[in-house]
Amino acid sequence: MTEGTHENIVCVFCGCLCDDLQLEVQNNIITTNENGCAISKAKFLNHADDRLEGPAIRENGASKPVTLKEAIAKAVDIIANSKRLLVYGLSSTENDAHREAYKIAEEAGGVVDNTSSVCHGPTILGTQESGETVAALGEVRHRSDLVIYWGSNPQFAHPRHMTLHTRAAGEFIKDPKTERKIWVVDIRKTISAGVADRYIRIEPGTDLEVISALRALVRGKELDVDKVGGLSVSDLKEIAEVMKGAKYGVLFFGLGLTQSKGRHRNIDAAIRLIQDLNSYTKWSMMPMRGHYNVAGANKTSTWQTGYPYAVDYARGYPRYQPGEFTAVDMLVRGEADVLLNIAADPAAHFPRKALKHMGNISIINLDPKQNMTSLIAEVNVPTAIAGIECDGAAVRMDGLPLYLKKVVDPPENVLPDRDILRMIYDGLRRAKK
Ligand code: SF4
Repeated sequence: MTEGTHENIVCVFCGCLCDDLQLEVQNNIITTNENGCAISKAKFLNHADDRLEGPAIRENGASKPVTLKEAIAKAVDIIANSKRLLVYGLSSTENDAHREAYKIAEEAGGVVDNTSSVCHGPTILGTQESGETVAALGEVRHRSDLVIYWGSNPQFAHPRHMTLHTRAAGEFIKDPKTERKIWVVDIRKTISAGVADRYIRIEPGTDLEVISALRALVRGKELDVDKVGGLSVSDLKEIAEVMKGAKYGVLFFGLGLTQSKGRHRNIDAAIRLIQDLNSYTKWSMMPMRGHYNVAGANKTSTWQTGYPYAVDYARGYPRYQPGEFTAVDMLVRGEADVLLNIAADPAAHFPRKALKHMGNISIINLDPKQNMTSLIAEVNVPTAIAGIECDGAAVRMDGLPLYLKKVVDPPENVLPDRDILRMIYDGLRRAKK
């Protein structure tokens, strides 16, 4: 690969997909990362560390190095003999890999789910119920005069979100310090709340009540209580009035809203609040997507299957049922007998009951790095890091697709996820003949 400077590289860590990184490459190693945040620097500068050393198969409890061909053959054999395949992950790899994963799920009559089922799945359910009022991040920067982060801590999880999109000047907001207000609504004073213009503390688990109260007030109704979620009615009235008075408001929301009590009902209510506000002024909302391509995983799933996640092919056509075909639920019920895991680490993040079942089934793990899942996988296949060692496409949190460039070569004989998945798919097709 080209030694020297690479400009306008997309960061493949969080859903901001910042596309202004400047990388220096020497001897096939990234030595500097200009513009990236601390998380980005850690990812790019340590791309060569903690790698899966090579294809391996676990036999009698011990991991045995094998050739790529042998690892693929073993993976094909396991999937061909599975009764209930679960394909999971996908949010930290590029879109072409997604396509190959759905083909495998379809071929094997299995289930395919992505990590949105444990993060913004409720956002999608809320959207399916109430629609979506969307904006581009550029529009936010150019036009918004009131930004609310609800249940989201961007300074921690999306470190450049505020700097690039809500603290930066835009076409119609020349001086963001005086012309734009940033509020944080959360149950505790996060570091983002500390740098915001206003912190609104609500009681845990009361998001739905607070949003519903704001909806009522925005619509001119009176509340017959003194407080909602720890906020006095006079505070709520004042908040509703400021929201109505904004020229262009944007609500960014995170897992504090999607995964707290109420879940997709919180999102449903938030969407309806935004719709109510649009009777008076312009408001949009946007989920703070975590994994860099979780939005892409939803888009490619919808493009291939008609549904964004939790898709089952057991009947030969795609069926959608969150709660039934979502990875955690399937594992907790002990339903999946094989897990094909792609660019995720469920062993590190899933609840204990799901993990217990993972210990009893065959796991085929595709990942560039060693992780908790690779420790228990029956087959491990190392892959190239998308956006660093191979190209591809990913989708930003506002739905914008961006091209990921290759900047260094992957380790010898290490291929992109899409190539490994295609080999597994071809093997399955051959096994059927
Ligand atoms: S904010 Fe996110 S996308 Fe941007 S540089 Fe940091 S980790 Fe990368």
